Parts: sequence; structure tokens; C-alpha cells
Amino acid sequence: MTSDEFRTNAHLLVDWMADYLGNLGKLPVTPDVKPGDIKKQLPGSAPVEGEAFPSIFADFKDIIIPGMTHWQHPGFFAYFPANNSEPSILAEMLTATMGAQCMTWITSPAAEELEERVMEWLRDMLGLPKEFTGVIQDSSSSATLVALLTAREKRSGFAINRRGFSPEEKFRVYTSTQAHSSVDKDVKIAGIGIENLIKIEVDEVFAMRPDKLEESIRNDIAAGFIPLAVVSTFGTTSSTAIDPVGEIGEICAKYQIWHHVDASYSGTALILPEIRMLVPGIGRCDSFVVNPHKWMFTNFDCSAYFIRDKQALQNTFSIMPEYLKTEVDKIVNNYRDWGVPLGRRFRALKLWFVIRTYGISGIQKKISAHIEFGRWLKHEILRTSGVELMAPVPFNLVCFRFRPEGLKEEDAISLYNEKVLAEINHSGEIFLSHTKLNGRFVIRFVAGQTHTSAEQVQNGWSYIKRRFLDKA
Ligand SMILES: *Cc1c(COP(=O)(O)O)cnc(C)c1O
Repeated sequence: MTSDEFRTNAHLLVDWMADYLGNLGKLPVTPDVKPGDIKKQLPGSAPVEGEAFPSIFADFKDIIIPGMTHWQHPGFFAYFPANNSEPSILAEMLTATMGAQCMTWITSPAAEELEERVMEWLRDMLGLPKEFTGVIQDSSSSATLVALLTAREKRSGFAINRRGFSPEEKFRVYTSTQAHSSVDKDVKIAGIGIENLIKIEVDEVFAMRPDKLEESIRNDIAAGFIPLAVVSTFGTTSSTAIDPVGEIGEICAKYQIWHHVDASYSGTALILPEIRMLVPGIGRCDSFVVNPHKWMFTNFDCSAYFIRDKQALQNTFSIMPEYLKTEVDKIVNNYRDWGVPLGRRFRALKLWFVIRTYGISGIQKKISAHIEFGRWLKHEILRTSGVELMAPVPFNLVCFRFRPEGLKEEDAISLYNEKVLAEINHSGEIFLSHTKLNGRFVIRFVAGQTHTSAEQVQNGWSYIKRRFLDKA
């Protein structure tokens, strides 16, 4: 592609992008496809001769777009959002254009220093203490792995990296029964063993019970185990339950256990002072992760990881082969030593564009509005017969289920809800997801796209009422 062709094609694409974002609501939120439908439209082997851009772009529109689930769609209320925004997209265009690989300071000084600065901004915006240093990871799953590995190395005097585990190092990690599955995965990868991940019981609002945590820790110590880390959650994936992070932090301090807070989704809400008041003591943790790629208008991937002891982090991951040594290693952050991958994308740029475009107050306004959507829908559900609320709604995720008259058996109610959810999701109008709480099938409705309006949330709820409730 020549420079002139690039210019022409790029303009074409930008027009397409603006149209896509503007008209997204007219597309079905989920595609009407079966497994294999897309693949069979794609040739079995790569083209030998290069193809012209117009035909590639035509196939993108004809084959790819009809097979996409549209995450920024106004009818997308499933999972957690992975929202993006215009400034974030523009920054990604620039990032791709520069094509920089930001592993050390010298490989892109501006990328490294912008990341330092933007992480300081974000730390302060969320009310985390100044002692924390931030680094952008690809995902929260990676950030929690980094936390566990750092805890493991610090605890062993950085010996396990050298010699592997000794038989005495029988570590235990604690998290709640509602924790994200990434904790399971990370405990396995960190070599601790899934049998040493202790799932602590939750209370009636799905928050970890500190008394049960302390009981487990004591029993484990008595049995010769070493309590290594607690992963608490600020906003669980199933129902955005909030673990009592302050109390958990005190227990961790008492027994010298690493405390990692997984605030992947709900952490963005800490930008609101009234939300911070819900979690006194959250800043006493050892590490903390929040995903701007979920709820802070920054497209995937951008996971902000904050750590108190950055030296321990660097000692855990540092590698220094000759070909990577530079003159300034002692005075700059070489982020290749702050996580698993060597190579890194320039992710700070999009977060910088987003924070500057909206400002702290602009982000606060949007997050408040989203939380208001949750409150509104909760009240709608409470005053509508035939549905019931299944968990508290601290943010914008509403967990509910249908409760048709006459159905008494739990299994039958779950089955009914499963069937209704499948119907809703086949409609292409709105897209919801589900979870299980206390063994019951529960539907999750979360409104947190960047441009989601009250009207769109009302439309989503009206659709559900019209199809499944009014006739009852
Ligand atoms: C989404 C989520 C994760 C996983 O995030 P990734 O960035 O996709 O790895 C972990 N924990 C919680 C609480 C989540 O909501």
C-alpha cells in the first residue's frame, strides 16, 4: 500500500467508523449465526498474491460485521461492559501508527513517562494512597498473577525464582466463593496449587466473611501451612458484591499476609467520593487492580495495576540480559520488569486521551449516571410482579429473575429463566448474561456503555416487560 493509498483508505475507514458508532443501534446486538458460519466463508488458504484493499474492506463489511457481537451497542447489557470512546479510538490509531514497542525507557521514553504520569493521575483519581505505583497490564488476570508471584517471592526472600519451591513452602491463598475465576487460574500458574486456594464463605449479600477468613488462616497455621495472600473483591463478577476490604486488610496485617484487591470492574466507581466512603481502609492493601477497559471508556486492553512495594515487584520479574542493558536503568522504569511479557503496547496514550477529554468531572458524571440506571432498574423490578431482585445493587449491575405464578420448584424456576434468557438473546434487540447465586439461575443486566442513555435502559427494560411480563 502506498502512502497515498493509505491516506485514501484511512479516510474511508474513519468515515465508516463514525457511521458505525452513530448507527450501531440499528444493527442486531448479537449476530444470527451458528458455529462455523463465518469460517466457511473464509478461504482455506492464504492468498498467494496480494489483494486490493477495497476487496478486503468489502469482506470485512460483508463477512465480519454480520458475525460480530456489538459490545458498544445500546442494547448490550451483558457481562460487564468493555466500553470504549472516541478519544480512546483515536489514540489507538496513533498507537498503531507509531508501532512502538515500549519495553524499556529507551525504547520509547515518552511512552514510559506518560505511563508513570497517567498512573499517578489515576491513583489519585481513585483515592489510592501516594505510596502506590501503577503500571498498565494487559488484563486483570495478569495483574492478579503478578500480585501472587510478587507475594510468593517476597515471602520466600526471592528464593523460589531461583531454586523452585521447598517442601516447607506450603502456601495458602484465600479468596471468597464469589471471586473471579482468574484467581483460580493464577493460583495454578503461580505453582501454589488449586488445592491451596481456600474459598471463604460469603454472607447474605455475597461478601466475604472476615470471621471465616480468620478462622481458616488460624487453622492453616496450626496445620503447618503458610498463609501467603488474600484476594478480596471490590465488586464481584456475579453481583458486584463488595468484600469488607478494610477488615480483611486488618486481618492480613495481623498475620502478615499479602492483600490484593480485585476491583477490576467496580474500581472505576471509586472516582466518586461517596463510593470511596463504602470501603474505608481499601488503600491499606498491598496491591490493587482496576480495568479502565471495562468501565472507564478506554478500549480493551488497559488494566491498571497498583502496588505498594514496587521494589518487590521489580525483584520478582527483573531479567537483565546484556542486550537489554541501558545506561539509565537505575533512574527510569523499565516496564518489562513489571510483569510477564517483555514487549508492551503503548497503552497509556488512550487512557491519557480519555482522562483529558472527559476530565475527572466528566467521568464522574457518567459513572454516577450509570449507577443511577442501576437504581432505577432495581426499583422497576421491585415494583413489578413476576420478577424478583436477587442481589443488592451497589452500582449498575442488576441481578434478577422471572418468577412466573404457579412455578414453585427451584429447578423449574431456573429452567424457565434459562429459557427466557435464550429467547431474549436470540432477539438481537438486547443482550443479557446470567450467573448463579445460591445455586439459582439469575439474569444479569448491566448498563455501562459510554453513551448509554436513560432512554436506552428504559427501552431495554420495556422490551423485557412487553415480551415476558405484560401478558402474564
Ligand atoms: C472481569 C473481571 C476479571 C477479569 O478481567 P480480565 O481483565 O479480563 O482478566 C477479574 N476479576 C473481576 C472481579 C472481574 O470482574
